[in-house]
Amino acid sequence: MYLVSACLVGVKCRYDGKNVSDTALEELFQSGQAIPVCPELLGGLSCPRECSEIIQTDKAAYKVASKTNKDVTAGFKLGAKKTLEICQSLDITTAILKSKSPSCGYGYIYDGTFSGNMIEGNGLTAELLSQNNIKVLNELNWNS
Ligand code: SF4
Repeated sequence: MYLVSACLVGVKCRYDGKNVSDTALEELFQSGQAIPVCPELLGGLSCPRECSEIIQTDKAAYKVASKTNKDVTAGFKLGAKKTLEICQSLDITTAILKSKSPSCGYGYIYDGTFSGNMIEGNGLTAELLSQNNIKVLNELNWNS
């Protein structure tokens, strides 16, 4: 069983109220092999919502802020924690998460300037799952 970002299997849970469906992942979900989860909704954020990015506030600290600088760090952290709890309660060891997202992105994310630039880094949920020995893949590499 996989955990999968809900927006990849048809759920309209992105910040803009849309999804980014991936046909192969939808098939995986339809076949009963994937549990869809949206960490940001689990963290209590609304849909639609302003887009947010992780902003490094100094060398060791960060916050997650919306485009109008509303601090949404607590919601992102709560969503990550709840997603980890779902994985642990269902013995899920692999998650397929949406690339680039400040929650789900793994390996590279937007740089916090809302300009489309990418930097190395992980979204909050991807990071927490990874720290807890859950393999994190994305929609581009999960079946390669
Ligand atoms: Fe998709 Fe993850 Fe963003 Fe939810 S938090 S919309 S699952 S990328």
